[in-house]
Amino acid sequence: MVDDLLNDDAAIAAYQFAEKRFGMLREPQHERKICKTLPLGVFQQTVSSWTGFGIGFIAALIFTSCATVLRPDARLRETAGLVEEVKIFGRSLGIEPTPALSRTTQNGPALSMLWLWMQHIGTLAVHGPVDVRMAIGFDLESERLKIEQVYRVDGYSVYYRQGNEFSDSRAVATVGFADEPIVRRVKVILHEDLHGDANFALPWEIEEGIVTPLGSLAAIEYFRYKSDEKNWKNAIASVSEERKVARELSVVVDEAEKIFAAENAEAAKQKILAVMPSFPAYYRQFERQIRGQHASTVLEAKLSHDLAYYRYFDRIATLAEIAPNLKTLINDLKQLPHDATLATAEQFLRELNSRYRSVPK
Ligand SMILES: [Zn+2]
Repeated sequence: MVDDLLNDDAAIAAYQFAEKRFGMLREPQHERKICKTLPLGVFQQTVSSWTGFGIGFIAALIFTSCATVLRPDARLRETAGLVEEVKIFGRSLGIEPTPALSRTTQNGPALSMLWLWMQHIGTLAVHGPVDVRMAIGFDLESERLKIEQVYRVDGYSVYYRQGNEFSDSRAVATVGFADEPIVRRVKVILHEDLHGDANFALPWEIEEGIVTPLGSLAAIEYFRYKSDEKNWKNAIASVSEERKVARELSVVVDEAEKIFAAENAEAAKQKILAVMPSFPAYYRQFERQIRGQHASTVLEAKLSHDLAYYRYFDRIATLAEIAPNLKTLINDLKQLPHDATLATAEQFLRELNSRYRSVPK
């Protein structure tokens, strides 16, 4: 769901600002890291954590070339295999596969996206969609595109994100993606497939809210199916962290709405930023994801963006606990009407909850 560009003056202005600032290419990090002269211990540790190979094997490789040790092709091949396997598994849960991430940079060039969200200063997208949402595509891996910053767009808070993973065939698996932890890769593959219109075709802010928890919950099922206990536990821990983030975000948003109603926008922003550390799970994620951006500039846009992703997270995780199984839950959620609004989606989730609770276990 990245193609619906909004025709809005602020969006165009932001695009122009952003466009002027692109072009600072940087080398792929992993290549630079590995070809540097590093103390042996560090080198061994770095390489073994990437490949999962033993130290003995790595020690032997140190005397060969950088390229042999690096093996990005092997990492991409491994990820291509994972993508295929996860997509086949997804089908068993009723997640129809899409072409997203089915190819790697070995088969064709990556397209990276820059997504921008803008929200009027002093407001939050609680009862409706975020004010402006746009995506800009680049023929480049996101690791190679460094944005210095997005300059001020009058009247709007702006948050941006870059990535190579999205829900259509132009999303190609990159070495950067292959180097992500496996729990995240599985989640992303399932998340992007859930976006396929055969699965969900809802207004953006509702669809993200539905597919985000479902992708994370489906990842748990994948590792259970694989009998991969370590990653199954990691996937469970990751869902419980996301539930915490979602619950804290909901309180932050309630607080922020009250503060915006009582103060002028600038003073309110500072006050909201000052209370945020009291919500450690959400605050950690907020800080990590806005690195390189300004907290007071991103605030309204970032909270609105996060609300779209996490609005239903905790409730859908609860539904998964009381549903007969995840496949049934996914199938039931697919009955959400395509023209759902935030209000009708709320109602739908409430009814589903009552329905599951009324079935004797
Ligand atoms: Zn998404």
